[in-house]
Amino acid sequence: MVDKTALRAKFTAEWEHHYKLDVLTSKGFSRHQCKTCGRHFWSLDANRTHCADSSCMGYEFIGKKTKDLSYVETWRGISKYFTQDSAVKHTEIKRFPVVSRWRDDLYFTNASIIDFQPYVVTGEVEPPANPLIVPQHCLRFNDVGNVGITGRHYTGFVMFGQHAFNTPKTGLFYWKNEALENDYQYLTKVIGVKPEDLTFQEDVWAGGGTFGPSIEYTANGMELGNCVFMQYQEMDDGTSRELSTKVIDMGAGLERLAWYTNGTPTSYEVTFGDVIRNMKRKTGVHLDEELFTRYAKLGGLVNMEDDDVKEKRDWVAQQLGMKADDLYGRLGSLHAMYAIADHLKTILYTTTDGMLPSNAGGGYNLRLLLRRVFGFNSEYAFNFDYGKILEDHAKMLKGFDDSLQEGLQTAIDVVLEDEKKFMQLQETGKKKMQVVVERLKKENKPLQKQELVTLYESHGIPYELAVDAAKKGGVHVEEVFNFYDAIGVSNEKKKEKAVKAYPGIEKLPATKTLYYDLLYADEFSAKVLAVDGNNVILDQTLFYPEGGGQSYDTGTLNGVGVKSVQKIQNRILHEVENPAAFHAGMEVKGFISRERRANLMHNHTATHVLNATCREVLGNHVWQAGAHKEWDKAHLDITHYKKLTEEEVRKIEAKVNLRAQQTIPVHKFVMDRGKAEQQFGFRIYQGGFVPGKELRIVQIEGVDVQACGGTHINNTGEIGFFKILKTESVQDGIERLTYATGVPALEWVHEKEDKLQQLTDVTRVPEQDIVQGVQKLQEEYKALRKKVEELQEFYLTSMGKELVGKAKGSKIVEIVKGLSQQDTLKLAQLLVNANEALAVVLVSRDANFVVAMSGKMSSYNAKNAIQTMLSFVKGSGGGSEKVGQAKLQSLDGIDVALMKI
Ligand SMILES: [Zn+2]
Ligand SMILES: [Zn+2]
Repeated sequence: MVDKTALRAKFTAEWEHHYKLDVLTSKGFSRHQCKTCGRHFWSLDANRTHCADSSCMGYEFIGKKTKDLSYVETWRGISKYFTQDSAVKHTEIKRFPVVSRWRDDLYFTNASIIDFQPYVVTGEVEPPANPLIVPQHCLRFNDVGNVGITGRHYTGFVMFGQHAFNTPKTGLFYWKNEALENDYQYLTKVIGVKPEDLTFQEDVWAGGGTFGPSIEYTANGMELGNCVFMQYQEMDDGTSRELSTKVIDMGAGLERLAWYTNGTPTSYEVTFGDVIRNMKRKTGVHLDEELFTRYAKLGGLVNMEDDDVKEKRDWVAQQLGMKADDLYGRLGSLHAMYAIADHLKTILYTTTDGMLPSNAGGGYNLRLLLRRVFGFNSEYAFNFDYGKILEDHAKMLKGFDDSLQEGLQTAIDVVLEDEKKFMQLQETGKKKMQVVVERLKKENKPLQKQELVTLYESHGIPYELAVDAAKKGGVHVEEVFNFYDAIGVSNEKKKEKAVKAYPGIEKLPATKTLYYDLLYADEFSAKVLAVDGNNVILDQTLFYPEGGGQSYDTGTLNGVGVKSVQKIQNRILHEVENPAAFHAGMEVKGFISRERRANLMHNHTATHVLNATCREVLGNHVWQAGAHKEWDKAHLDITHYKKLTEEEVRKIEAKVNLRAQQTIPVHKFVMDRGKAEQQFGFRIYQGGFVPGKELRIVQIEGVDVQACGGTHINNTGEIGFFKILKTESVQDGIERLTYATGVPALEWVHEKEDKLQQLTDVTRVPEQDIVQGVQKLQEEYKALRKKVEELQEFYLTSMGKELVGKAKGSKIVEIVKGLSQQDTLKLAQLLVNANEALAVVLVSRDANFVVAMSGKMSSYNAKNAIQTMLSFVKGSGGGSEKVGQAKLQSLDGIDVALMKI
């Protein structure tokens, strides 16, 4: 791993080589060292002592408008410069999805370069255009606590990416001088930065075994971009060499650029435009412009994630001549509004790109955002119409990002569904908070971070609501500033469990696969390369190894059963019943179970058809969240935010059957990864990340295209009959459809028919009347039950009367028959209610149970009676002075026991 501090020192020493660029010196820029942060920077001002970073000078651009550009117009200006005016013309490409399904490490796209890793950056796959610019919407969840407060933090923002991939094949498009010239030109001309305000800061960058210098652009306290030069590769022996593919990776936040042009107190005013204007109008939240502007300039110095945030916040308040509580209290509703606007925008993007709120994985982050939205809305009683806010976002970005129009309606549904869940939680949450507040008050303790974490994780109570409830209840809250790290908000995908290591396997050649070409064969010959434990490895095989959610083939090798087939590092291992029958070098004849394989193929292709059909019927938010294909049945998990209705299931089922009848051709081919993404879009990654610069594509004409390594039939007609057997929610936000095709599907229908037949046999109601027949039986049963209850009541009452008649004095002791434990208790209660001076001891013969009860006016001790009895009969029990009961092992000795009480 490259050590950045060491690298920085090295590059600073070699500054003339890395940072002294003609583009700077020819314009008159000279090198300086910042007196505050110590970093080196380049400026036109020969006497400049401080760099233009916000932590070294505050937000000096606030209140100084440079251009009258809206958020979208800022992008248009940048786009025009790079596509028309720059010396080397760039191509503007469409943004990639915010859900980074093409990667195995991240849930969400968090920088523009993410679009091109790993294969474009290494030069193995061609980029969609070269050089290019992209307005890449990015999501970041590491600063959730800062969003709305600092004026610059977002969970969702557009990174303007400027990239040139200089590969050995393309040659050099441009390098440092040209990159900086381009950025100097657009910053001064489009954004309106005065050249004398602009500083270029020297920095370094390292990641994934490559590294290089980088230069940061700042002006008046604002970071306006960062240009990374991917230049060197770290070698195993610690040395380094120049990369053969050199990449320009310049990223700049569009929000910041638009903010700089407008000089508004926060960037939110510009980024959210009409959205925030309408929100302010709706709530009537106005701000003290003068105070807010003074605050905003200082606000740049505060980061909620820093350790010294409390001191800094206090300091800011002091500068404004206010108490911290008073200042932040006044700003609170505004901060909450900005956060709501940001969070809902993120939900609009993720819903459009197919990730829904849930309680696991990336969806966990989204659920948290919505909880915050609902929490703020309730805390400040905003009463927002979320649908309207989402609509305003989509409207504002029309022409810039039209995909949002497609996701809008679903996003509204998703938010409303999640709000229902939140409301249900609210009731129990409020009670829980009351209990917590009472306890803390009694113990005279503050509400601390660990408890806040538990309240969110176990009870769904958002941080802000918990704090609010505690403060209102008079409990001190310990200030917590990095709460969102503590609850595990993360963009990193959990690694799949590592494949079993198989030492020495790399010495064997990769197994030649026959199952793609000989799709309908069931026989093959091969040579044994090795036998290892129970596994036989061949030079080639027709056996499909488990993978891509498809189960393995079974069959025989030389008549010996093959139990399981797995693939490890491109070698296929056949687990056989008798490994002693094989040795390296021998020829074998293999057979695969044709029926099993055929069903697996039918089910796999049906899965693709089903997935596409679910998307058509339920909406564009549907993605495959998981799938498993066995020979007799299969299941597909889809992203969806509510239970499927019977009507939807029928519609989906009918459409899949129709597509089978339409005998649609299924094509399978290998294709360059970048080309496949451009031609078919990112929907090809339904199964998640697929490694390699080339992809195997399965295309069902006009229905579905996916990157998939499974065995697929040539025509949907082979699916035959398709039947959905069951649907269920397997996880919040994920619905599972279980289904079968062909004969197994028919067998399932037969089973249902058999059950119906049995039902008509048992009830003796003919099939056509079965529903009414069962209903009638049920009604009769209910009526009979009621009758039985009445009779029981009558029986108890008359038995009670009889006992009262027999009673001598103030105590009844009796062994009763035909009464359950419940009825015995009831009878005792009946008796002491009727005569409050009475005490009763009843033994139920049927239930091996005894109850002692003493009336309100009776002085008889029921507990003592039970204890005395338990010294004569085996059993356990206890009670109070008024009621005692015991469960007895047997009634042996009960007569003696009853005489003793
Ligand atoms: Zn500085
Ligand atoms: Zn597949």
